[in-house]
Amino acid sequence: MDYHSPASFAEASALAANASGITRFLAGGTDVLVQLRSDLVTPDTLIDIKKINGVSDITRNADGSWTLGVAVTGAEMSEHSGLGRDWPGVVEAMDLVGSTQVQGRATLTGNLCNGSPAADSVPAMVAAGVTVMVTGPGGTREVAVEDIPTGPGKTALAKGELISAVNIPARGERGGDAYLRFIPRTEMDIAVVGVGVNLRLDGDTITEARVSLGAVAPTVLLVEDCAKAIVGSALDDAALDALASAASAACNPIDDKRGTIEFRTEVTGVLAKRAAKIAYARAKGEDL
Ligand SMILES: Cc1cc2nc3c(=O)[nH]c(=O)nc-3n(C[C@H](O)[C@H](O)[C@H](O)COP(=O)(O)OP(=O)(O)OC[C@H]3O[C@@H](n4cnc5c(N)ncnc54)[C@H](O)[C@@H]3O)c2cc1C
Repeated sequence: MDYHSPASFAEASALAANASGITRFLAGGTDVLVQLRSDLVTPDTLIDIKKINGVSDITRNADGSWTLGVAVTGAEMSEHSGLGRDWPGVVEAMDLVGSTQVQGRATLTGNLCNGSPAADSVPAMVAAGVTVMVTGPGGTREVAVEDIPTGPGKTALAKGELISAVNIPARGERGGDAYLRFIPRTEMDIAVVGVGVNLRLDGDTITEARVSLGAVAPTVLLVEDCAKAIVGSALDDAALDALASAASAACNPIDDKRGTIEFRTEVTGVLAKRAAKIAYARAKGEDL
């Protein structure tokens, strides 16, 4: 195996573009190294991106948006004084990933690029409208998070492309987000359903919403019908019921030992309601 630790994204991209066989980028390694040690995937080329300048930075930009480096860990996100105030849903989703030890290594970008339909941070990022910068041989482009996964274990990244930054929008006034998942145990398990909700209020009325579902389809879903169900409402019971129906209707889950199709479909509606209530309360300034 060839191990590289490039000093720039351009260099990392060139190494990946010229590599043959299996290439993996090494961020936290909590997927890559586990797959390596269990003989699931043995990369021919391992490109460690943690030596690149700025990859551990969390920056609040002048317009209130956030830029996160691709090696920022879940623990660094949780411990940051401002990020969780603006985007509690994104931070709580990443905080659900693994244990304390895993939190010290795991990154948003690794969670996204591992391509698991059950990745916890991904529905929260999609709901929040997060984009990533993708650097490749042709330069750098901005891509919405929902456009990165293409199927279990697959991404839209071409050979030689890697994510070079994560952009989280400005929170703005009277907005709130939340992420909830269902797991059979209390922790250290894979989501059977995950739901991210992000919304904005004018008075008591929801004016904008994004609802995203994880673990109930081959890729994360951004469900327009869920947003339509609650926009224009004050999240009354009728709106919540319409949200739950739209969320359940969007599901296309697998049937496995963790949950049947019927169970996942039902739980999706329940979690969508609960996550929307939390996001709504947060948008009103309640500290949940
Ligand atoms: C004990 C344990 C518990 C876990 N629990 C959970 C959980 O509850 N929820 C959950 O969602 N996940 C969980 N995971 C999975 C894992 O921790 C997460 O997916 C984590 O966020 C991966 O991040 P990483 O930085 O460690 O990625 P890495 O292992 O470094 O990389 C993962 C993948 O992303 C690619 N990659 C990394 N960086 C880039 C980049 N900049 N550009 C392009 N591709 C890149 C790599 O090539 C690789 O394919 C768990 C893992 C373990 C070991």
